[in-house]
Amino acid sequence: MTEDEFTAIRKRMVDTQIEARGVTSPRVLAAMRRVPRHRFVPQGLWDQAYNDYPLPIGEDQTISQPYIVALMTEALELKEGDRVLEIGTGSGYQAAVLAELASAVYSIDRLGSLTEKAQKVLAELGYNNLHVRVGDGTLGWPEEAPFDAILVTAGAPQVPRPLVEQLALGGRLVIPVGDRFSQTLTRVRKVKDGVKYDYLGGCRFVRLIGQYAWPAGGVDY
Ligand code: SAH
Repeated sequence: MTEDEFTAIRKRMVDTQIEARGVTSPRVLAAMRRVPRHRFVPQGLWDQAYNDYPLPIGEDQTISQPYIVALMTEALELKEGDRVLEIGTGSGYQAAVLAELASAVYSIDRLGSLTEKAQKVLAELGYNNLHVRVGDGTLGWPEEAPFDAILVTAGAPQVPRPLVEQLALGGRLVIPVGDRFSQTLTRVRKVKDGVKYDYLGGCRFVRLIGQYAWPAGGVDY
């Protein structure tokens, strides 16, 4: 497939899977039309990169369904000058979408092998407002806090306290919260005298593993 063909398929993906399901933010839709999603999946899966489902990216992890990426991105209400933290770099695709919409993006993954691959693609595509590192993202990235927005792309048993602490006043944290099998997409907004919660629907993510989330090990079904 040529790059022009990928661009055409990507536009169709946004029209039929994302806009048709109610994502309306013009900035989010434009970002989803720009980022070459196929570059973030193994080459053998390039022809499936714009389909309506998650795909494997190695290490038993997945790149989320395009619609979920758009939904979570819209929920962050990003403005151009925002500083954003992502937990769960994975393939780097969601980080690239965030980098299109914010002034600086910090992304953490606990797995070095995925981080390396993601960094390589992100550099090839020329994203220079994006910083990736290996570590336990449930601890946040204190040196760069506070953040206007924080996105967690793995399923958590509860909202990790350090992430709420690292939100700026008015900041938004979007995170799937629930058990190992299903979660509720939750938005935590930091307001003057505490936090406010919105619930944005059901979802299913791989586990968030760390000090303020699930323990490592155990059985995955
Ligand atoms: N956003 C990614 C998909 C993430 S899959 C994309 O666009 O491709 C979930 C990722 O969360 C996995 O790569 C997994 O290694 C990572 N993860 C799980 N627990 C984590 C933690 N405590 N800190 C950082 N990353 C974590």
